Amino acid sequence: MYNTNNSYFSNSLLHWYDSNSRDLPWRKTNDLYKIWISEVMLQQTRVDTVVPYYLRWVEKYKSIKSVAKADDLKLLKLWEGLGYYSRCRNFHKACKIIVNDYSGEIPSDYQKFRLLPGVGDYTASAVFSIGLKQTYAAIDGNVRRVMARVLRIKNITNRNKKRINNTLIKWMDPERPGDINQALMDLANSICRVDHAHCSICPIDEICMAEKMPIPESYPIKVKKKVIPHKDIVTGIIWRGKKFLITKRSENALLRGLWELPGGEFESNETPIEALRRKIKEECDIDINIEKEVGYVKHAYSHFKITQTLFQCQTQESVKSINKEYRWITPIEVNNYPFPKSNHKLFTILNSDGWNV
Ligand code: SF4
Repeated sequence: MYNTNNSYFSNSLLHWYDSNSRDLPWRKTNDLYKIWISEVMLQQTRVDTVVPYYLRWVEKYKSIKSVAKADDLKLLKLWEGLGYYSRCRNFHKACKIIVNDYSGEIPSDYQKFRLLPGVGDYTASAVFSIGLKQTYAAIDGNVRRVMARVLRIKNITNRNKKRINNTLIKWMDPERPGDINQALMDLANSICRVDHAHCSICPIDEICMAEKMPIPESYPIKVKKKVIPHKDIVTGIIWRGKKFLITKRSENALLRGLWELPGGEFESNETPIEALRRKIKEECDIDINIEKEVGYVKHAYSHFKITQTLFQCQTQESVKSINKEYRWITPIEVNNYPFPKSNHKLFTILNSDGWNV
C-alpha cells in the first residue's frame, strides 16, 4: 500500500513524464538487448551524442549473437568517438558469455546479469526496471542529486546512498519502475539541474524538503573536482613512400585496442624532437628524418588532458623491433581502424593540407 508520499511521488512524476518525456529511440523498444546497449552508451555521455551511435549500432548488430561473433576491430570502429572504450570491449565480452553460458538469452536473474563484464548496479537496475518492469532504482549522479534535494541530504555518504535507494524503492510505482527511473533522469536534466533548480515548475515540489530552504541548489554539497593533470605528447606521421606507420595500443594501456600514430610523452629534459626520435628508436628501432612540425591539438580524456604535437617524418627503414602490432597504411585506410579522438583531430589537420606526402 502507498502512503501519501509514495502515491504523490509516483503519480506526480509519472503524470509529468507522460507529457514531457524525451523522445528517444531506445524508449520505443522492449528488446532487452537494445535497452542494455543504450544504457552502456549513456554512461558518462550526453544523450544527444549517443543517439546516432545507438541507431548505427542496432542497425548493424541486431542481436546479442551478432555482437558476440563480431570482430573487436569493427565494434571499436563503430564506437569510435564515443569514448570510454572499455564499455565497448566489456559489452563484447558480456555478449560472448551470454552466447556461451546462457544460450544467447540475457539472464533474467538480476545477480547473474549484474556480474557480467561492465554491468554493475546502475546498468542492471536500469535494464531490469525498464525492460522487465522489476522494482530496481537506477541511481546515477543526476538522480542522486534530485533525491538528495527531495530528502534534504547534504552529504552523499554511503549511509545516505542507501537511504536514497531505499526511499526510491519504497516510493516507486511497482507497475512502472522503469518509467519512474527515466522520469527522474529527465527531471534531473531539465528541471532539477545542478546550478539551477526550477522548483516552480517541478512536479514533485510538494514533498521536496530542499524546496523549502533558501537555496535548494546547495543540496547536496558539491564535491570539489580534482585538478586534471596535463601531459605533453609528441607524435610522428612517419612516411615510407605513400604509406605511414600506425601502431596498436597495448593490452594494458588506456584506450587499448585502438590504433594510433606512434610517439609518446616527453621528459622535461628533452625537446619534442629529441623525444620523438628516442621513442621511435625504442619502439620500432628505426631512424627517422623529422621534416617539420605539422601542428598540435588539445584533448581532454576522463583523467587527464593532453597537448599532442605532430611532426612529419620520413624513413627508408623497415620496423625491426616492436612489442606492439603495427601497419603501414595509406590515408584512405584510416577508415578501417579505430583511432583515439586526438588522432582524428591530427588527421583533420593533415587532411586540410592534402596529407602533404
Ligand atoms: S522542488 Fe526544486 S529542488 Fe526539489 S526536486 Fe524539484 S527542482 Fe529539485
